[in-house]
Amino acid sequence: MSNSSLVSYTSISPCKSVPREHKIDTITIHCVVGQLSVEGICGCFRNSAVGASCNYAIGTDGRIGLCVEEKDCSWCSSSPSNDHRAVTIECASDRTHPYAINEEVYRSLVDLCADICRRNGIKGVKWKADRSLIGQPDKQNMTVHRWFANKACPGDYIYDRLGRIAIEVNAKLGAGAIKDNTEGLTKIMGTAVATAEQMKKYIRAKNPGVSQSVLDMVPLYLSEGKAEGVRGDIAFAQSCLETGNFTFKGSAVTLDQNNFCGMGVTANGMKGNSFKDPKTGIRAQIQHLKAYANADALMQSCVDPRFQYITRGCAKYVEWLGIQENPNRKGWAAGAGYGEKILNILAQILKIERGDAYMFTVNEVKKGEKGNHVLLVQEILKARGFKGKNGQEINLDKDCGANTVYAIKQYQKARNKVDPGICGNVDGIAGPKTLRDMIAL
Ligand SMILES: [Zn+2]
Repeated sequence: MSNSSLVSYTSISPCKSVPREHKIDTITIHCVVGQLSVEGICGCFRNSAVGASCNYAIGTDGRIGLCVEEKDCSWCSSSPSNDHRAVTIECASDRTHPYAINEEVYRSLVDLCADICRRNGIKGVKWKADRSLIGQPDKQNMTVHRWFANKACPGDYIYDRLGRIAIEVNAKLGAGAIKDNTEGLTKIMGTAVATAEQMKKYIRAKNPGVSQSVLDMVPLYLSEGKAEGVRGDIAFAQSCLETGNFTFKGSAVTLDQNNFCGMGVTANGMKGNSFKDPKTGIRAQIQHLKAYANADALMQSCVDPRFQYITRGCAKYVEWLGIQENPNRKGWAAGAGYGEKILNILAQILKIERGDAYMFTVNEVKKGEKGNHVLLVQEILKARGFKGKNGQEINLDKDCGANTVYAIKQYQKARNKVDPGICGNVDGIAGPKTLRDMIAL
């Protein structure tokens, strides 16, 4: 049993049954009640005292995390018989009714569901909003947490869209990636997976003498990419390839040209295009990639001097940027395996540890406690609208001071009112009971 290749972050929870005791034939989508990062969601499930987990988490930026491998059973839906047969997915959502998820999360969710179906031999997802069909995956193979426990999960926003999600997932499966052999290829359009920090660490490792001006412009790949819907991390990996990791050794262009993708170097010995500043050069590269990827209009005015020479949409995938690998025999570069080289660089970048990961066990959070476990509780309290004394916002300072203690108490009070005793004493200490309630949704 494999895990999804869409995962960009892994943090395995100790809360699980190993291995699952039923083949995968169901998908259960949950909402996490807070616009948490994928690190935040996985971090929730690091403590064995929490007694909860999920197979996959989707953070608010759409990145997908692996929390419990598919071969194992997560503790997610308050029903072992469901969780043994289901792949469970926790999605970053708003903290109040209807617990909406954003577009990035929605897109990743559809992609992930299609991927789960494909790898587990599930022909398509079926949703009838009918609780009496639990356990009959041939009739309905999506289930919801609210059927197994007194919870709102997955929230009405997701619940009302399960039919639409099913249609979109099935369209992806039916469109039969297999038919045109594009399964597993990497789309140029989409959200970047690598962070600016990972890209900077990569370039520093490969080119220790790299100039500060290069490091400073790394975030531009992400912002310019986002503006056009192009994966900025792919553009950056391409620049690493084209400039020899910004050493410009053996390259036709020089740093001062602000041309980081060999644009206009159509023959040996040509100097290529120049741009007035790094931002313009990167913008031109992003626009050039978009020209290859699809036929959509640009969002910003065109600064790419060679935009009009491209057959729009002739290379949807990175692999197809190389003319030799492109079924239309078009592309960015003539050399063999051009796209593969870019993807190899990207894979190395993604292996670099992200600076922002939560990798810790959630210990009791009480007055005077400091660290990432405090930060996680602060993030959850803040995401759910709890405040300190006199309505003060909670600082995400990793330090459990008076305001955090106050907010924990407010949380305990509010939850005990709904479900008496669920958080134990109202004592301002997030111990196992409170943590479990806070985190296990
Ligand atoms: Zn749930």
